[in-house]
Amino acid sequence: MAKEDYEVVIGLEVHAELSTKTKIFCSCPTTFGAEPNTQVCPVCMAMPGALPVLNETVVEYAIKAGLATNCEIAGNCKNDRKNYFYPDLPKSYQISQFDKPLCEHGYVEIAVEEEQKKKIGITRIHIEEDAGKLNHNEFGGGSLVDLNRAGVPLIEIVSEPDMRSSKEAEAYLRKIKSILEYIEVSDCKMEEGSLRADVNVSVRRKGMQEYGTRTEMKNMNSFRSIIRAIEYEAERQIEVLEKGGTIEQETLRWDDVSGKTFSMRDKEDAQDYRYFPDPDLVAIRLSKEYIEKIQNNLPELPESRRVRYMQEFGLSKKDSNLLTASKYLSNLFEEAQSICHNAKAVANWLLSDVSRILNEKEIEADKIPFTAEHLAKMIMLIDKGTISSAIGKKVLEELFENPKDPEEIIKEKGWIQISDEGAIKEVVNRILEANPQSIADFKAGKDRALGFLVGQAMKETKGKANPQMLNKMFLEELNK
Ligand code: ADP
Ligand code: ZN
Ligand code: MG
Repeated sequence: MAKEDYEVVIGLEVHAELSTKTKIFCSCPTTFGAEPNTQVCPVCMAMPGALPVLNETVVEYAIKAGLATNCEIAGNCKNDRKNYFYPDLPKSYQISQFDKPLCEHGYVEIAVEEEQKKKIGITRIHIEEDAGKLNHNEFGGGSLVDLNRAGVPLIEIVSEPDMRSSKEAEAYLRKIKSILEYIEVSDCKMEEGSLRADVNVSVRRKGMQEYGTRTEMKNMNSFRSIIRAIEYEAERQIEVLEKGGTIEQETLRWDDVSGKTFSMRDKEDAQDYRYFPDPDLVAIRLSKEYIEKIQNNLPELPESRRVRYMQEFGLSKKDSNLLTASKYLSNLFEEAQSICHNAKAVANWLLSDVSRILNEKEIEADKIPFTAEHLAKMIMLIDKGTISSAIGKKVLEELFENPKDPEEIIKEKGWIQISDEGAIKEVVNRILEANPQSIADFKAGKDRALGFLVGQAMKETKGKANPQMLNKMFLEELNK
């Protein structure tokens, strides 16, 4: 049997930290990066007798996420205790939701190939609290616990095992990230761990009805590692099966450096969490009106922005899709176009040169260092003829390195386009003198000679000559 005879099956459990100001069961702040144990109180430190009170905004945000992913919202639900011991979990249980999650039976649509939409089922979304954090090896090899993160609200979005390739898993996760960003319930900063995924992978022979045994890689927080881990793990499982072995259901650790998965010693699946309703919290009852009100106040989602971009700005379906995939990019587009009123140019710059640089630098759109105003001004300088688009590209590179007003950049660098007729004429004459062969070629009907001459003039002026004027003057001279 070959690799092609197998099918990969993937299901993701995505954890997103909600961007509420305060924690889920106390009023401690949730700001990232504070000094260890400065954002704590008796509740989130689990002092005896301290009682939790549910933060209503957490429920509201989770409902928003549920509605935006086509879930049914439960009018009745509750919080449960999930019992386990770990040093970053001071209560020795996590407050989560077990058999009655807030949201169920949803889906999102992904498109790996343009026009090929696929629904990925969402089993459930529930609310829970985050654990603290262990800082290893800081002092003489020991570990210190920081409880700032303990009690930060999370939603866990559990997908059906509906994905069939690492590409589909990536598209799904990008979709979830984009939706959460659009509805403003999480900042989704993967590098800060506010969006992370448990990745479940199994393989089965094509055509089989039953799923194979899955393995799980927990807490993955970069697209690149997730893609690599899925591909590695699928191949490893196929190899094991091909050799007549069996896959054990277990939690694996992905190692980014070696590019391999490793078995973790404690097998979490053997654990019994002994869930039971948290007696310290009251049940959650939601009225229809309350849910409807949230529904009516949902911000514009990527799908409707996409349609609007095609109608309002005449962008292609593909470009509209690409722009709206990230809320950050989409906002940048809208803001820049409202300044320079050239939607097509803004879209082109964002999707070609800006995207290329992002790829080269391996960063996401939200790390773009310049503002919409910078981009808009650069485009306006091109539209006015102050700089050529070739210089525009150089300005863009500069905006990534040292973002500031493009006008200042071109002044400092001396990149202002030469549009002075006398100066251009001088260059044209010089180039013509140096290239008699091209003149002969042109006269013999070889139109390409004109392009060559313009190219030479651009080279001589370091891209600063106005290309339209060059073209016109060369033609005038050549046709004399
Ligand atoms: P747990 O919480 O113990 O990890 P769940 O039943 O909630 O277990 O499932 C977790 C995830 O595993 C879900 O996203 C689901 O889609 C995925 N999953 C379940 N079975 C498989 C399988 N055979 N292959 C790949 N993913 C799977
Ligand atoms: Zn607290
Ligand atoms: Mg799991």
